[in-house]
Amino acid sequence: MSARARALVVAVALCVALPLVTAGPAASETDPVGVWPLRPEPQVVRDFDPPALPYGAGHRGVDLLGQPGQPVHAALAGTVTYAGLVAGRGVVVVSHGATRTTYEPVAAAVTVGQPLGRGAVLGSLELAGSHCFPRACLHWGWIAGDTYLDPLRLVGLGPVRLLPLWRDEPAVTSPVGLWLRLWGAPAGTPFAAGPW
Ligand SMILES: [Zn+2]
Repeated sequence: MSARARALVVAVALCVALPLVTAGPAASETDPVGVWPLRPEPQVVRDFDPPALPYGAGHRGVDLLGQPGQPVHAALAGTVTYAGLVAGRGVVVVSHGATRTTYEPVAAAVTVGQPLGRGAVLGSLELAGSHCFPRACLHWGWIAGDTYLDPLRLVGLGPVRLLPLWRDEPAVTSPVGLWLRLWGAPAGTPFAAGPW
């Protein structure tokens, strides 16, 4: 085999091999990997609907169905930057450096400046101020600077679930995807199942 032919064989082999190594959903490889703030995995009763204008109508987070008094967990490790009342509603904000997550209505069990590990309990869910009253639900937000993000991205959902289900399959080849799958829904259960 000539040197040129050998080089061609190597190039072809690389082209075949590389996608296998790098396959996986883009979102879960660039977003931090967090946990649901409610356990077991809650039903999403209202989706993220970012406003077109800073004070426009929309939904600046997602609503997760829960029970009054249920423990609320930090989605990511961070530091508490707010724990108190906003317009009579209990709010906890956890900073993760470039972004922060918000939880309401919550009776805070933490204080400002307190470091939290991922999944640490930060308070308990309240009924008053619920976005889905008379049911209890957690309004969960994720913010980068002044920009509201879809917090479901932290648990491997968000934009990914708009793709056909077969696009999830390569996730098994990536450690992050495999971890999410082991930790998440039972095999064969589509993410975001439910009527909402
Ligand atoms: Zn809400």
